[in-house]
Amino acid sequence: MNKNVKKLLNLQEIDNTTREKKRRINRLEKRMENLKNEIEMIKDREEEREDNLAKLKQESEEKNRKVDDLQDQIDKYRERLDEGIISFKETEALEEKIQHSMDRMEKLEDEAIDIMMKIDRTEAKREEQKAEAESKVEGKKDTIEELEGKKDGLLQELKELKKEREDVLSEIPDRLIDQYDRLRASTNTPVVQVRNRVCQGCQMSVSKNTVKQARSDQGLATCENCSRILYVR
Ligand SMILES: [Zn+2]
Repeated sequence: MNKNVKKLLNLQEIDNTTREKKRRINRLEKRMENLKNEIEMIKDREEEREDNLAKLKQESEEKNRKVDDLQDQIDKYRERLDEGIISFKETEALEEKIQHSMDRMEKLEDEAIDIMMKIDRTEAKREEQKAEAESKVEGKKDTIEELEGKKDGLLQELKELKKEREDVLSEIPDRLIDQYDRLRASTNTPVVQVRNRVCQGCQMSVSKNTVKQARSDQGLATCENCSRILYVR
């Protein structure tokens, strides 16, 4: 094989490896991004659950406060009744008010108990949910760290490939690099084998002369159809 073609083939390998590693880095980054989003979603959901619990507690406090207020009101009505210096009509009205307030109080107390029971159930569940969320977040963070490590490794390999590429480039004549770069703009395989007179890039037959040229140590052979640089093993 023509030694320049060998170098171009080497360059192509470096370029394709570089491309593949960049793709892998992209995929890793996407996975890490997804994991970070998932962590945020878990945290949001936990926050929402905490908010709901806080709201329940607030609701419970309000109910209890209303019960207390009603109790105060009833006590006041009773005090007035006990004073006994009011008319029969007023007495009747007060008794009616007391009854009404007591009915309301009873209803509120029932509601307050329901809420308290709901709070108890929620709190018992919260412990389990918190532990589960924490372990999920930890697991995802571990995975991110692992992927970050892989990415660092790939970045290091890319750096080495870049250096390797520069070394290879320095040994290839500029005009060949130009030719390679032009082909590279439209294909990842600017340098291909010709086998049984068929270009392995475009699968078209090439002339005998081209095959002969590809075998020679002098100059380059290119496919008449796709312009790829050809070599024979
Ligand atoms: Zn071809």
